[in-house]
Amino acid sequence: MAGVNPERRRVKSANRNVRGQSSVDDLTLRGAVTGLASLYAVRGQLSDPLALIVWENIGYLIDDERRSALFEEFVDRVGLQPARIVHAPVPVLTDIARRGGMSPQTRVERLRLIGALAIAECDGDLAGRLGCLPLAKARTLLRKFPAIGDPGADKILLFAGIAVLPALDSNGLRAMVRMGFCAEEKSYAQTYKAAITVLAKDGETDAAWLKRAYVILREHGKTLCKRAAPICEPCPLDRQCAHRMVAKL
Ligand code: SF4
Repeated sequence: MAGVNPERRRVKSANRNVRGQSSVDDLTLRGAVTGLASLYAVRGQLSDPLALIVWENIGYLIDDERRSALFEEFVDRVGLQPARIVHAPVPVLTDIARRGGMSPQTRVERLRLIGALAIAECDGDLAGRLGCLPLAKARTLLRKFPAIGDPGADKILLFAGIAVLPALDSNGLRAMVRMGFCAEEKSYAQTYKAAITVLAKDGETDAAWLKRAYVILREHGKTLCKRAAPICEPCPLDRQCAHRMVAKL
Protein backbone atom coordinates (compact mmCIF):
# COMPACT_ATOMS: atom_id res chain seq x y z
CA MET A 1 0.00 0.00 0.00
CA ALA A 2 1.35 3.47 -0.87
CA GLY A 3 2.75 5.29 2.18
CA VAL A 4 1.55 8.72 3.21
CA ASN A 5 4.04 11.39 2.22
CA PRO A 6 5.36 12.93 5.48
CA GLU A 7 5.40 16.42 3.96
CA ARG A 8 1.75 16.06 3.03
CA ARG A 9 0.97 14.98 6.59
CA ARG A 10 2.79 18.01 8.04
CA VAL A 11 0.98 20.45 5.77
CA LYS A 12 -2.41 18.89 6.50
CA SER A 13 -1.74 19.14 10.20
CA ALA A 14 -0.66 22.78 9.96
CA ASN A 15 -3.62 23.67 7.74
CA ARG A 16 -6.11 22.55 10.35
CA ASN A 17 -5.26 25.73 12.23
CA VAL A 18 -4.79 28.12 9.31
CA ARG A 19 -8.01 29.37 7.73
CA GLY A 20 -8.01 30.27 4.10
CA GLN A 21 -4.72 28.60 3.25
CA SER A 22 -4.57 26.32 0.23
CA SER A 23 -4.44 22.72 1.30
CA VAL A 24 -2.66 19.70 -0.11
CA ASP A 25 -6.12 18.15 0.02
CA ASP A 26 -7.03 20.47 -2.88
CA LEU A 27 -4.52 18.81 -5.16
CA THR A 28 -5.63 15.70 -7.00
CA LEU A 29 -3.46 13.71 -9.34
CA ARG A 30 -5.77 14.41 -12.25
CA GLY A 31 -5.76 18.10 -11.33
CA ALA A 32 -1.96 18.14 -11.16
CA VAL A 33 -1.57 16.54 -14.59
CA THR A 34 -4.17 18.91 -16.04
CA GLY A 35 -2.51 21.90 -14.38
CA LEU A 36 0.88 21.00 -15.81
CA ALA A 37 -0.40 20.08 -19.27
CA SER A 38 -0.33 23.66 -20.55
CA LEU A 39 3.41 23.87 -19.85
CA TYR A 40 4.56 20.85 -21.79
CA ALA A 41 4.00 19.63 -25.33
CA VAL A 42 3.14 15.95 -25.69
CA ARG A 43 4.87 15.02 -28.93
CA GLY A 44 4.55 11.77 -30.83
CA GLN A 45 6.08 8.88 -28.92
CA LEU A 46 7.72 5.68 -30.13
CA SER A 47 5.43 2.67 -29.94
CA ASP A 48 7.51 -0.23 -31.25
CA PRO A 49 9.01 -2.23 -28.35
CA LEU A 50 12.36 -2.82 -30.05
CA ALA A 51 12.63 0.86 -30.97
CA LEU A 52 11.88 1.80 -27.35
CA ILE A 53 14.64 -0.54 -26.14
CA VAL A 54 17.15 0.85 -28.65
CA TRP A 55 16.11 4.39 -27.62
CA GLU A 56 16.89 3.52 -24.00
CA ASN A 57 20.29 2.08 -24.87
CA ILE A 58 21.48 4.56 -27.49
CA GLY A 59 22.97 6.92 -24.89
CA TYR A 60 23.73 7.30 -21.22
CA LEU A 61 22.80 10.42 -19.24
CA ILE A 62 22.25 12.53 -22.34
CA ASP A 63 19.42 14.94 -23.09
CA ASP A 64 16.48 14.02 -25.28
CA GLU A 65 17.68 16.11 -28.24
CA ARG A 66 20.98 14.28 -28.41
CA ARG A 67 19.30 10.93 -27.80
CA SER A 68 16.82 11.62 -30.56
CA ALA A 69 19.58 12.59 -33.04
CA LEU A 70 21.57 9.43 -32.24
CA PHE A 71 18.47 7.26 -32.47
CA GLU A 72 17.59 8.68 -35.90
CA GLU A 73 21.16 8.12 -37.06
CA PHE A 74 21.00 4.53 -35.80
CA VAL A 75 17.76 3.95 -37.72
CA ASP A 76 19.34 5.42 -40.89
CA ARG A 77 22.67 3.62 -40.72
CA VAL A 78 21.67 0.33 -39.07
CA GLY A 79 17.89 -0.04 -38.98
CA LEU A 80 15.63 -1.61 -36.39
CA GLN A 81 15.49 -5.14 -37.79
CA PRO A 82 17.17 -7.49 -35.30
CA ALA A 83 19.28 -9.21 -37.97
CA ARG A 84 20.63 -5.88 -39.18
CA ILE A 85 21.48 -4.84 -35.63
CA VAL A 86 23.35 -8.10 -34.95
CA HIS A 87 25.33 -7.83 -38.16
CA ALA A 88 25.92 -4.09 -38.06
CA PRO A 89 29.60 -3.22 -38.57
CA VAL A 90 31.25 -2.58 -35.24
CA PRO A 91 32.87 0.69 -36.49
CA VAL A 92 29.38 2.04 -37.31
CA LEU A 93 28.00 1.09 -33.89
CA THR A 94 31.10 2.50 -32.20
CA ASP A 95 30.86 5.75 -34.16
CA ILE A 96 27.30 6.25 -32.89
CA ALA A 97 27.94 4.95 -29.37
CA ARG A 98 30.94 7.19 -28.67
CA ARG A 99 28.68 10.25 -29.00
CA GLY A 100 26.18 8.84 -26.52
CA GLY A 101 28.05 9.39 -23.28
CA MET A 102 30.44 7.36 -21.20
CA SER A 103 31.27 3.66 -21.75
CA PRO A 104 30.62 3.52 -25.51
CA GLN A 105 32.01 -0.01 -25.82
CA THR A 106 29.42 -1.27 -23.34
CA ARG A 107 26.73 0.37 -25.46
CA VAL A 108 28.01 -1.30 -28.63
CA GLU A 109 27.78 -4.68 -26.91
CA ARG A 110 24.32 -3.90 -25.56
CA LEU A 111 23.00 -2.82 -28.95
CA ARG A 112 24.19 -6.06 -30.51
CA LEU A 113 22.71 -7.99 -27.59
CA ILE A 114 19.32 -6.37 -28.24
CA GLY A 115 19.34 -7.72 -31.80
CA ALA A 116 20.55 -11.15 -30.67
CA LEU A 117 17.93 -11.43 -27.92
CA ALA A 118 15.13 -10.39 -30.26
CA ILE A 119 16.15 -13.21 -32.62
CA ALA A 120 16.80 -15.83 -29.92
CA GLU A 121 13.72 -15.10 -27.82
CA CYS A 122 11.10 -14.30 -30.44
CA ASP A 123 12.41 -15.01 -33.95
CA GLY A 124 12.95 -11.31 -34.50
CA ASP A 125 9.36 -10.29 -33.80
CA LEU A 126 9.41 -8.79 -30.32
CA ALA A 127 6.15 -6.87 -30.71
CA GLY A 128 4.33 -9.97 -31.96
CA ARG A 129 5.68 -12.14 -29.15
CA LEU A 130 4.85 -9.63 -26.45
CA GLY A 131 1.31 -9.37 -27.75
CA CYS A 132 0.82 -13.14 -27.33
CA LEU A 133 2.24 -13.51 -23.83
CA PRO A 134 0.45 -13.11 -20.50
CA LEU A 135 1.46 -9.84 -18.86
CA ALA A 136 3.87 -11.37 -16.31
CA LYS A 137 5.73 -13.28 -19.03
CA ALA A 138 5.83 -10.25 -21.30
CA ARG A 139 7.41 -8.31 -18.43
CA THR A 140 9.94 -11.11 -17.83
CA LEU A 141 10.89 -11.10 -21.51
CA LEU A 142 11.41 -7.33 -21.55
CA ARG A 143 13.57 -7.47 -18.44
CA LYS A 144 16.05 -9.69 -20.30
CA PHE A 145 17.02 -6.72 -22.47
CA PRO A 146 19.78 -4.40 -21.29
CA ALA A 147 18.78 -1.37 -19.20
CA ILE A 148 15.17 -2.53 -18.90
CA GLY A 149 13.90 -2.96 -15.35
CA ASP A 150 10.33 -2.86 -14.11
CA PRO A 151 9.85 0.88 -14.85
CA GLY A 152 11.20 0.42 -18.40
CA ALA A 153 9.04 -2.64 -18.94
CA ASP A 154 5.94 -0.74 -17.77
CA LYS A 155 6.71 2.09 -20.18
CA ILE A 156 7.17 -0.29 -23.12
CA LEU A 157 4.02 -2.27 -22.32
CA LEU A 158 2.01 0.97 -22.11
CA PHE A 159 3.42 2.82 -25.12
CA ALA A 160 3.43 -0.27 -27.34
CA GLY A 161 -0.26 -0.79 -26.61
CA ILE A 162 0.31 -4.19 -25.02
CA ALA A 163 -1.17 -3.35 -21.60
CA VAL A 164 -3.01 -0.45 -20.03
CA LEU A 165 -0.96 0.16 -16.92
CA PRO A 166 0.66 3.14 -15.19
CA ALA A 167 4.31 3.96 -15.78
CA LEU A 168 6.72 6.64 -14.60
CA ASP A 169 10.34 7.55 -15.19
CA SER A 170 12.62 8.88 -12.43
CA ASN A 171 11.70 12.52 -13.18
CA GLY A 172 7.98 11.88 -12.93
CA LEU A 173 8.49 9.83 -9.80
CA ARG A 174 10.39 12.66 -8.10
CA ALA A 175 7.64 15.14 -9.02
CA MET A 176 4.94 12.85 -7.59
CA VAL A 177 6.81 12.47 -4.31
CA ARG A 178 7.35 16.23 -3.99
CA MET A 179 3.71 16.97 -4.74
CA GLY A 180 2.85 14.66 -1.86
CA PHE A 181 1.09 11.85 -3.71
CA CYS A 182 3.36 9.20 -2.19
CA ALA A 183 6.24 8.92 0.24
CA GLU A 184 9.87 8.33 -0.57
CA GLU A 185 10.45 4.75 0.56
CA LYS A 186 13.70 3.00 1.47
CA SER A 187 14.45 1.97 -2.11
CA TYR A 188 13.73 3.33 -5.57
CA ALA A 189 11.76 0.17 -6.37
CA GLN A 190 9.48 0.63 -3.34
CA THR A 191 8.92 4.32 -4.11
CA TYR A 192 8.14 3.46 -7.73
CA LYS A 193 5.65 0.83 -6.66
CA ALA A 194 3.95 3.28 -4.31
CA ALA A 195 3.69 5.92 -7.04
CA ILE A 196 2.23 3.67 -9.72
CA THR A 197 -0.27 2.39 -7.16
CA VAL A 198 -1.45 5.99 -6.76
CA LEU A 199 -1.49 6.47 -10.54
CA ALA A 200 -3.63 3.36 -10.94
CA LYS A 201 -6.00 4.37 -8.13
CA ASP A 202 -6.34 8.13 -8.59
CA GLY A 203 -5.54 8.58 -12.28
CA GLU A 204 -7.68 7.73 -15.26
CA THR A 205 -7.75 4.22 -16.58
CA ASP A 206 -7.38 4.77 -20.31
CA ALA A 207 -4.07 4.35 -22.10
CA ALA A 208 -4.14 7.85 -23.62
CA TRP A 209 -4.33 9.49 -20.17
CA LEU A 210 -1.64 7.23 -18.70
CA LYS A 211 0.72 8.06 -21.59
CA ARG A 212 -0.03 11.76 -21.23
CA ALA A 213 0.59 11.58 -17.47
CA TYR A 214 3.91 9.79 -18.08
CA VAL A 215 5.10 12.43 -20.53
CA ILE A 216 3.87 15.47 -18.57
CA LEU A 217 5.21 14.31 -15.19
CA ARG A 218 8.54 13.42 -16.82
CA GLU A 219 8.80 16.83 -18.50
CA HIS A 220 7.90 18.53 -15.24
CA GLY A 221 10.60 16.63 -13.36
CA LYS A 222 13.18 17.61 -15.99
CA THR A 223 12.13 21.23 -16.41
CA LEU A 224 10.89 22.70 -13.09
CA CYS A 225 10.78 19.97 -10.47
CA LYS A 226 14.48 19.31 -11.00
CA ARG A 227 16.52 16.79 -9.09
CA ALA A 228 18.96 19.21 -7.45
CA ALA A 229 16.37 21.85 -6.51
CA PRO A 230 12.86 22.55 -7.80
CA ILE A 231 12.05 25.86 -9.47
CA CYS A 232 8.73 26.49 -7.74
CA GLU A 233 7.89 30.14 -8.48
CA PRO A 234 6.61 29.54 -12.04
CA CYS A 235 5.05 26.15 -11.20
CA PRO A 236 1.23 26.17 -11.46
CA LEU A 237 1.09 23.84 -8.43
CA ASP A 238 3.01 26.27 -6.23
CA ARG A 239 0.04 26.85 -3.89
CA GLN A 240 -0.92 23.21 -3.49
CA CYS A 241 2.25 21.13 -3.69
CA ALA A 242 3.25 19.49 -0.39
CA HIS A 243 6.98 20.18 -0.83
CA ARG A 244 6.36 23.84 -1.57
CA MET A 245 3.91 24.31 1.29
CA VAL A 246 6.29 22.74 3.80
CA ALA A 247 8.89 25.28 2.67
CA LYS A 248 6.40 28.08 3.43
CA LEU A 249 5.41 26.85 6.92
S1 SF4 B 1 5.77 23.55 -6.59
FE1 SF4 B 1 7.96 23.05 -6.78
S2 SF4 B 1 8.27 21.06 -5.74
FE2 SF4 B 1 6.06 21.35 -6.13
S3 SF4 B 1 5.67 20.30 -8.10
FE3 SF4 B 1 6.06 22.48 -8.55
S4 SF4 B 1 8.27 22.59 -8.97
FE4 SF4 B 1 7.89 20.62 -7.91
